[in-house]
Amino acid sequence: MNSNVLQTPIVYLKGVGPNRAETLQSELGIHTYQDLINLFPNRYIDKTQYYKIGQLQRTSSEVQIVGKIVNIKTVEQKRGKRLVAKFIDDTGEMELVWFRGQKWIRENLKLNIPYVIFGKVNWFNGSFSMPHPEMELWEDHEKGLKIYMQPVYPSTEKLANKGITNRVTNKLIQQLFLETKGRFKETLSPGLINELSLISKGEALFNIHFPKNQELLAKAQFRLKFEELFYIQIQLISKNLMHKQKIKGFNFEKVGTLFKTFYEHHLPFELTNAQKRVIKEIRSDLGSNAQMNRLLQGDVGSGKTIVALMTMLLAIDNGYQACLMAPTEILANQHFMGIKELLGDIGVNIALLTGSVKKTARKIIHEQLENGELHILIGTHALLEDKVEYKNLGLAIVDEQHRFGVAQRAKLWHKNDVPPHILVMTATPIPRTLAMSLYGDLDISTIDELPPGRKPIKTVHRYDSNRLKVFQFIRDEIKKGRQVYVVYPLIQESEALDYKDLMDGYESIARDFPMPDYQISIVHGKMKPADKDYEMERFVKGETQIMVATTVIEVGVNVPNASVMIIESAERFGLSQLHQLRGRVGRGADQSFCILMTGHKLSSDSKTRLETMVGTNDGFQIAEVDLKLRGPGDLMGTQQSGVLNLKIADIVKDNDILKTARYHALKILREDISLQKHPVILHAYTQLVKYKNIWNYIS
Ligand code: ADP
Ligand code: MG
Repeated sequence: MNSNVLQTPIVYLKGVGPNRAETLQSELGIHTYQDLINLFPNRYIDKTQYYKIGQLQRTSSEVQIVGKIVNIKTVEQKRGKRLVAKFIDDTGEMELVWFRGQKWIRENLKLNIPYVIFGKVNWFNGSFSMPHPEMELWEDHEKGLKIYMQPVYPSTEKLANKGITNRVTNKLIQQLFLETKGRFKETLSPGLINELSLISKGEALFNIHFPKNQELLAKAQFRLKFEELFYIQIQLISKNLMHKQKIKGFNFEKVGTLFKTFYEHHLPFELTNAQKRVIKEIRSDLGSNAQMNRLLQGDVGSGKTIVALMTMLLAIDNGYQACLMAPTEILANQHFMGIKELLGDIGVNIALLTGSVKKTARKIIHEQLENGELHILIGTHALLEDKVEYKNLGLAIVDEQHRFGVAQRAKLWHKNDVPPHILVMTATPIPRTLAMSLYGDLDISTIDELPPGRKPIKTVHRYDSNRLKVFQFIRDEIKKGRQVYVVYPLIQESEALDYKDLMDGYESIARDFPMPDYQISIVHGKMKPADKDYEMERFVKGETQIMVATTVIEVGVNVPNASVMIIESAERFGLSQLHQLRGRVGRGADQSFCILMTGHKLSSDSKTRLETMVGTNDGFQIAEVDLKLRGPGDLMGTQQSGVLNLKIADIVKDNDILKTARYHALKILREDISLQKHPVILHAYTQLVKYKNIWNYIS
């Protein structure tokens, strides 16, 4: 049918009218016929069965029964009234109960006439009852379209109160099929339909609403999920390919002397295979004439820094400058020291720019940047200030991406006429599934292998009641010369409480680990930055053995001698945070430990989180569990949650379909980016964009 008919305002559908139209709009966002047809059921109820009252079990859940109402009465109770009807069939009797809408029901229900009722049965005081049953006269039920698998649509309390019950919604969709004769324009190309043995669009829509059997329902679901994910991939991939065609980048065509010299004479270890692969991926981007936009993800300690450094050398070899931006001063400092040491006397000029660099030093840096003497600039947000101007910035690297906003990244971009290549590094692994659907227009490199010889961190879960044993363990480790972190949660809503927890904890540790045998550092969000740095320094230098802190130490800190991480109230942390915290230890040659302390009362999600932490050190596996626990929206933060408002597909559960969709979208776009040879896809995609039925990707 003509797709424009689907744009008809919903108010014109027979049975809707202005009132219902308004409710449908405000509650479900349904404005047009198309929106209604795309309101997919959440689940289905098997209505092939009719139960007898005598057959009901206490465990019966939703059942369908044929019988009659023999009387109705209003029962007064403490909190308001309820309406109770006696319902019978030839095997027994039960009660139907209403708490709302009693007047209407009382006036409209007919006595002693066969009804089909449907709903959840409760067992109470020796008899069965059904609150707010769905009811239909047997006569109408017989005449109506036979629906075996009853769809259950998304609903809200307001919808139910306004009389738009599941049955009404279903009737409206039936009406829609009648008015449109169920002929819906095909939205996938014949090639795809053939190759994947898909059912047609019309058949899929009919069977998603009125499945004839399980098999057809499964086919309808597959077809619609595929279609949804396919068009998202078409959008992301065409954006990516177009970006590459449009945005020219500097061409780093040669691998020069610096890179080679460093590789042959300065590299302190053999690169892991994953590092080699990633450097290759980056190199091919840099020589492709298009601007690189790449995300480098790798677990804590996987060796991203060396990849960053070698990428910077490629830039310098080709006559460009590079910068590396870190989220905190401590981290910027560490990068600066580490990279300076790695470079040795190779002849690269490098400087550090942070908020605490003095005016005169800052001026020199500015000058050297502008005249090109300086090759590498490392720093914090200070790098983004307008005064910082480069002679020819060819590469910008951002570490720990999740701390930077999109706007800040964009700022780096606009420092040149031709944008520098951009490499964003993150230690928060994005599950492959999510990466594929969220960052389809960003290229991703993954270091999925740790340098050899690392001792995996041993993680255990201990209850608060075992604290004395844990303290003894700390004492033993300190005796061996190790250092220990003790971390307390910090959750904004209860900041004052958390602060009290931290202080109580600090005092109890100070009692058990008294001076002068033990020295303790403390770092928390209420301290002045200078005091924080001072306390950090003491711990880094080994002057203190215990660091009591809130999560401020989460990012970056590198103290190889610290080998024990105690996480207090571990049940209150999210998985990725626990994993980041654990990554603070295990950086030296010694066996490291992570101890998760909790009370005895744990929710099932908390248990899963703790078990996951104890069970694996693999950040990707942890991220997958996190995704399953929290759902994609939560994981990526509110900013991006809207992005994943899928109508039917679920990017976690339908990962295989997502992969298939991505494969086909890529294949088609690689050969035919303007979709000229795929008119059906082009048309459907254009319609989706036009009517905003495809989510707007926030890049
Ligand atoms: P992250 O990915 O967390 O930034 P780093 O780059 O800081 O990790 O590397 C962690 C540690 O591993 C550093 O001390 C680094 O020198 C070392 N390292 C990196 N790559 C290798 C390798 N291929 N072999 C041995 N050690 C390595
Ligand atoms: Mg790092």
